[in-house]
Amino acid sequence: MNVIETLKGLVGAEHVLTGESAAPLLVDWRGRYQGAAIAVVRPATTAEVSAVVRLCAEHRIPVVPLGGNTGLCGGATPDQSGSALVLSLARMTRIRAIDADNDTITVEAGCVLQSLQEEARKADRLFPLSLAAEGSCTIGGNLATNAGGTQVLRYGNARELALGLEVVTASGEIWNGLRGLRKDNTGYDLRDLFIGSEGTLGVITAATLKLYPLPIAQRTAMLALKSLDDAVAFLSRARAGFGASLTGFEVMEGEVLQAVVGLFTQLRIPFEGASAHSPWFALLELSDSESAEHAQSRFEAVLGEAIEDGLITDAAIAENIAQSKAMWHLRESIPLAEAALGKSVKHDVSIPISRIAEFVHTTNAALQAHFKGVKHVIFGHLGDGNLHYNVAPGPAQSEGQVLGQQDEIYQLVHDSVHAHGGSISAEHGVGQLKRDQLLRYKSALELSLMRSIKNALDPLGIMNPGKVLQS
Ligand code: FAD
Ligand code: ZN
Repeated sequence: MNVIETLKGLVGAEHVLTGESAAPLLVDWRGRYQGAAIAVVRPATTAEVSAVVRLCAEHRIPVVPLGGNTGLCGGATPDQSGSALVLSLARMTRIRAIDADNDTITVEAGCVLQSLQEEARKADRLFPLSLAAEGSCTIGGNLATNAGGTQVLRYGNARELALGLEVVTASGEIWNGLRGLRKDNTGYDLRDLFIGSEGTLGVITAATLKLYPLPIAQRTAMLALKSLDDAVAFLSRARAGFGASLTGFEVMEGEVLQAVVGLFTQLRIPFEGASAHSPWFALLELSDSESAEHAQSRFEAVLGEAIEDGLITDAAIAENIAQSKAMWHLRESIPLAEAALGKSVKHDVSIPISRIAEFVHTTNAALQAHFKGVKHVIFGHLGDGNLHYNVAPGPAQSEGQVLGQQDEIYQLVHDSVHAHGGSISAEHGVGQLKRDQLLRYKSALELSLMRSIKNALDPLGIMNPGKVLQS
């Protein structure tokens, strides 16, 4: 019996997709990578995942795990050889348990992040991972890429939110590590090895995750600032002034927001006059455990003092949920505006917060010296030291001119990141996009330890080959 027939026997014929029904799942979200596969298989249970991986191990078939396909580094797209099997977790969406006293939820890997947030809310709890792709990305994909998002400042990355995992190993065995423990020092942390491994060590099939109390009130404010240096200085003050209730601190270059409102004319920057044309803006979120009035008065006190001291030039506090949503909409529309304005060379970098302004000044200057006229599109999660530092064609340039110099631009920006003690991938992962860049910035020892782990957990090299590390 051939492999396709065996797979149909394992998961049901209608869940083995080939030809046109598989095609949309073989291209990544940004349309940068087009792959080919024997089939896309959609098992419904952990036992079915195990059976599929066992079959693949037996026949040495590469397995590419697929969640919501929103990853930005081509990690879920197979190569073009057509020899791989794409293993989609889309049917594994069950909430297995909610333990209110333990503040945990156990869910299957294919559960869409937004559904998971909603299930938590029904239980009067918060699942705090939040990102613009939450309507499509899955918790399995979030864990596999150790996703970040807009509340990392307070609650941490996906890794910090996971207590336990269930994993199908590269040989098809099922590891039940679904422990709901906040303390467990019993040897090597296997859970943390699988988190962030982008499907190269095994398939995550379920997770036990931390829940938090729902905030009583949330308040959003937008700030106008003279410089990124002022934003960094104000961040320190905001952390001291707001403590744990500061759940978000985003920054956006003024020109980036001007492009957003120029394109999406229903949106507006919530300032008048010169403030509406500030060089930088910040977006703050407070999650208060007392009341909306309490959040409002804390905002007024800290922001008022910062205005008096000249650290921020203007502040707008959202008066209701609609205004708060409008502010977040501005921030979340940046990637869409970027996409509408054409392709750019993207960098998802982190820098120690104390060096982030210096990084931007020196890298902007170096880019202008080497690639005169390019435009910087800078925004991101300043509270986490994470910037999306993108390079787009200037008014007199074509998309092709900038993309044609992509490798040189990567190198300039990433060398600068490295020189400032930063990381070339803060939250999107490595996938196939940044795999070769790792060789430049990781030490030989670090790469060799990573390869030892890969060989130990996946000796046949069938788990998502060619991603993160060269196969
Ligand atoms: P996929 O794209 O399907 O897969 C991603 C990687 O994980 C692949 O390597 C895949 O093989 C592997 N994988 C998927 N599921 C499993 C599994 N069950 N077991 C093992 N491996 C698996 N990311 C952030 O961190 N922060 C952001 O703020 C953010 N914003 C975004 C906004 C937009 C508009 C978009 C399109 C993306 C954004 N991303 C962001 C990137 C992306 O959403 C996240 O990386 C997300 O976690 C990917 O989840 P997914 O289910 O779509 O995974
Ligand atoms: Zn981001």
